[in-house]
Amino acid sequence: MSGKIKLINENGLRVDGRRPNELRPIKMEVGILSNADGSAYIEQGKSKILAAVYGPREVHPRHLALPDRALLRCRYHMAPFSVEERKSPAPSRREIELSKVIREALEPAIFLEKFPRTSIDVFIEVLQADGGTRCAGVTVASLALADAGIPMRDMVVACAAGKVDGVIVLDLNDLEDKEGEADIPVAYMPNLGLISLLQMDGILTIEEFNQALNLAIEGCKQIYRLQKEALKAKYVAIKEEVEETCLQ
Ligand code: UDP
Repeated sequence: MSGKIKLINENGLRVDGRRPNELRPIKMEVGILSNADGSAYIEQGKSKILAAVYGPREVHPRHLALPDRALLRCRYHMAPFSVEERKSPAPSRREIELSKVIREALEPAIFLEKFPRTSIDVFIEVLQADGGTRCAGVTVASLALADAGIPMRDMVVACAAGKVDGVIVLDLNDLEDKEGEADIPVAYMPNLGLISLLQMDGILTIEEFNQALNLAIEGCKQIYRLQKEALKAKYVAIKEEVEETCLQ
């Protein structure tokens, strides 16, 4: 976070041409892997992430099974080719941390108590990273859980806000994340109005923090609408397929 590169131009626009409160273009698709119980894909700017969900299913190893609820396991993994400098395929400390925070962000939304002695396994594969992958990972994992038919209190959606060149901005890309002054990733359950992930990197005043938090929540609400559209699109496609088959 050196702050040396100019991240906001004279017109108030960011390095990728966005206004401060603008999200990157987002594309989501549900149900794309036939061998997982649920799956989803997200493109958020240049970040591309796939999520697969298995379960509820028998726990292996068995001694990890919980008597009163399902065991939620999450693995966030970056493909070696996902970043400019090849990443070792071995799990890094960062990936272990992100697996944990993503699990904790998803956990409050899932009715785990409905499936005692089982496991729900979530795999998040980052195919291309350009900042904000923990947030996009939460958003896409939540879609894959819904696709697997796992009952949830709400969808979880995540988005970061931060500060670059003294301006509070939404949904930072890699350059803004590295060269900006601060970054706060937020996971939010819009119907419940609950935050399940809040981290902060860098320095903000209390006023800036509140502004960034509100902006991140606004971003989450926008992404939530896209999430719902992506889920609906899958069922519209299935309905059309069934209708076509019936007409034949
Ligand atoms: N990154 C990288 N190499 C790595 C890990 C991360 O180039 O081994 C980049 C990647 O673009 C990632 C960004 O750094 O999205 C920001 O990483 P951070 O740890 O802040 O997590 P994120 O913002 O992706 O949730």
